[in-house]
Amino acid sequence: MLNILKQYGKRFTRKLLIYIGYYKAIAFILKRTSGFPIWENLEIDIQSSCNRDCEFCPRYHDRSGVRKDAEGKQVIAKMPTEKVYDLIDQAHRLGFRGKIKLHRLSESMLDKRYVEFAKYIKEKGLRLLENTNGDVFKKNEALCEQLDGLIEHLTIGLYDYHNEAEKQAEIAYWQGKFKKTQLAFSTPTENCTIRQGAKIYFEVKKNPAALDLPCPQPMKMMLVRYDGEVSLCCEDDQCHFDLGNAFEQSLQEIWWSRKHIHIARTLEKSGGRHQFPRCSTCYNGQEKINLLSRTSPED
Ligand code: SF4
Repeated sequence: MLNILKQYGKRFTRKLLIYIGYYKAIAFILKRTSGFPIWENLEIDIQSSCNRDCEFCPRYHDRSGVRKDAEGKQVIAKMPTEKVYDLIDQAHRLGFRGKIKLHRLSESMLDKRYVEFAKYIKEKGLRLLENTNGDVFKKNEALCEQLDGLIEHLTIGLYDYHNEAEKQAEIAYWQGKFKKTQLAFSTPTENCTIRQGAKIYFEVKKNPAALDLPCPQPMKMMLVRYDGEVSLCCEDDQCHFDLGNAFEQSLQEIWWSRKHIHIARTLEKSGGRHQFPRCSTCYNGQEKINLLSRTSPED
């Protein structure tokens, strides 16, 4: 009961501070005085779901209702169209002309609005980069043609090959589909990042030295989940840092907030991870592992 009251009080205070323009004023000042640069990558999660359930993905163990419900079923939700446009417009007004992706822990090609958003991003002079598991493209030749060139750089996950010959055959297949978009291929089975929430997090050996590494992600990434909540980094899909909601506050207010700048500057130093519970168990930055030759933690 006390916790609920505390939560309610916190939310009420935040809404009041938003209403009176407190965060707006702080951001206005810090943008000009802190020397904290604008993000390098903007990711807008246009919808929540993915058609796969990979063991290396942080969605795997989620039962929070963000990606999967308590029974493990997919949550299907979309960011409202006007919010997507508004976020792109805000970034553009801030002078951002860098990289945008339209996913977080989701497969953006499942969203039929993708092409219209892609065209809008291009018209604005921004750079559209994307990651995909490729499954929708395999069934939709027309979509490949529509997005070839509209997406500047596409990273395709190769998840199903069993040997080098099959891997090369997949690469050749995709090179035949896209002529203007630059392609890259991710091979998480061989080069896997250890991520919290993933099945493999508990199954592989982790290097404790990774916990002392600086983490540059919060200095570089502005990540907006489909419900507007802002993540600190690609490991923070649950938005543990409570940075704010982009449907309630502007991107400028959230990015140039005292809280965000403090966290980002702490984490850019070695040892900073130990200051935050989520970061103190994060092995992002450790050398990638080969799942094909995995050993158990007891080995
Ligand atoms: S160390 Fe913290 S900020 Fe960096 S990736 Fe891990 S959870 Fe995110």
